[in-house]
Amino acid sequence: MVSIEELISLKGKRSLITGAASGIGRAMAERFAEAGSDLILIDIQDEKLHQVRSELNRYGVKIKIFKVDLSRKPQIDRLWIKIKNNLPDILVNNAGIYPFREFVDIDEKHYQKVMDINLNSVFWMCQNMIKLRGKAGGTIVNVGSIEALLPFKKDLAHYSSSKAGVIALTRALANEHGRKKYKINVLLPGGIITEGTKGAAKLIFKFKKGLLDSALKFKGRISLGRLGEPDEVAKMALVMASDLSSYMSGAIVAVDGGFLSA
Ligand code: NAD
Repeated sequence: MVSIEELISLKGKRSLITGAASGIGRAMAERFAEAGSDLILIDIQDEKLHQVRSELNRYGVKIKIFKVDLSRKPQIDRLWIKIKNNLPDILVNNAGIYPFREFVDIDEKHYQKVMDINLNSVFWMCQNMIKLRGKAGGTIVNVGSIEALLPFKKDLAHYSSSKAGVIALTRALANEHGRKKYKINVLLPGGIITEGTKGAAKLIFKFKKGLLDSALKFKGRISLGRLGEPDEVAKMALVMASDLSSYMSGAIVAVDGGFLSA
C-alpha cells in the first residue's frame, strides 16, 4: 500500500497556479511548495509575484514567475510557448475577479472582461495544457464558486454565469479526457477572507449599502459559523492535485463552511 506521505507528496511534479500573487492562489502556492512541487506562478501583479517567490524560496523548490494578463489569449499562448519544454504536471486555474455591478448597468466591456478572466482564460489554459502534454496526461483543478450553484449575493449575475461555465467546462473535459490520463475537477470556495473579498467588502460598506443585507445573510447561512481562510481552500486543492484523489474526476468540491447545504 502506498504510504500517506507518498500520496500527498508532489515531489518531482511541476504545478502551474494562476492568480498566485494573493489570496487563495498564494496559499495554494505555499502548500504545493511544502508538498515538494516546483512552481510556475502566474499573475498580473508582477511586484507581488516577486514577493511571493522570495517568501516561498525557503521550501527549496524551483519557482518561476510570469506576469500574464489572463484576459488576453495571445498572452496565454505566449506563456505556453515559453514553458513548452518545462510543462506543468498540474494546472490550477484560480485567477478570477468578482466586481459587483447591478445587472441592468452591465455593459458589454464589463461583461467581456469578467468572462475573459473567469471563464475564457480557463478554457484556453486547459486547451494549451491538453494539447501540449498530449498522451502524458495531467491533473487540472479549476476554481469555480458557490455562486455558480446558488447565486446568493446581489449584483453578481455576470460572475455567477462565468463560474457556472467553469463547472460545465470542467465536467466536459473530465469526461472527454479521463481515458487519456487527465484528472480534472472543480473546487468551489465560498466565504474566504482574501485581499479580493476584503476589497469588495470595503466597497460595499462605502458605496453599496444596499448589498449589506445580502452580505449579512450570507454570513448567517454558513453552517460552521465563520468565514474561511485561504489555506483551508489550499489544503483541499492539494488533495485534488495529489494522488489522494486518484479516483476523483469531474467532481464539484465545495469548501464553503457548509453554505451550500445550509
Ligand atoms: P484575490 O483577488 O485575492 O486574488 C486573485 C488573484 O488573481 C490576484 O492576485 C489577481 O491579481 C489575479 N488576477 C486577476 N485578474 C487577473 C488577470 N487578468 N490576469 C492574471 N491574474 C489576474 O481573489 P481570491 O478571493 O483569492 O479568489 C481566487 C479565486 O477564488 C477566484 O477565481 C474567485 O472567483 C474564487 N472564489 C473566491 C471566493 C472567496 O470567498 N474568496 C469565493 C468563491 C470563489
